[in-house]
Amino acid sequence: MLCVPALEPYLARFDRAQLDDHVGAIFALTPDLLLAGFNRAWFEFARANGGEPQISRDWPLGRPLIDAIAVELRGFYVAGYRSVLTSRRPWSHEYECHSPQIERRFHQTVLVLGDGAGLLVVNSLRHAAPHDPERPAVHPAPVEDYRELDGFYRQCASCRRFRHARHANRWDWVPALVGQPPRATSHVLCAICFEHHYGKAPGPAS
Ligand SMILES: [Zn+2]
Repeated sequence: MLCVPALEPYLARFDRAQLDDHVGAIFALTPDLLLAGFNRAWFEFARANGGEPQISRDWPLGRPLIDAIAVELRGFYVAGYRSVLTSRRPWSHEYECHSPQIERRFHQTVLVLGDGAGLLVVNSLRHAAPHDPERPAVHPAPVEDYRELDGFYRQCASCRRFRHARHANRWDWVPALVGQPPRATSHVLCAICFEHHYGKAPGPAS
């Protein structure tokens, strides 16, 4: 696993070859949450998703990780990573990263390096299967039904579902839109993802 010299001593307690052999992406962060190391799977995942050589060019060591996180989820990740640095205790959570055809769920565990010298972020694939064709949401209405009155599409930044233009509480998996999101797509969080990341949303004003 490649890493910045400042964190080298703290990776000594890990089997470096094993970090590289882990099938999920692993990355290291400085206490300021700058990218400080990558395992082999980080690059392989990028290649498999058509990201290389762009990923290596755009995500060099030293780049703030926050740049890679959707604006709506930054508070969640920054709070989680900071809690590991201060408490020195691991933090784990599940997240979704679906492709248009495949449903994928990952588990992320964040470990402290040294006495708060950095973080090691370990991602593991938990579930991957084609989207269930029996689920009605995968047989969505025509794409135009998701364009709202202001001309924009609303996509959840976390689960990537699209909001139905006439049913504000309906979020559908729309392969055609996920595969090629329209330029006029604005990112929000659906109610389920909001609650998962930040706790219960305030109820409607009475
Ligand atoms: Zn969502």
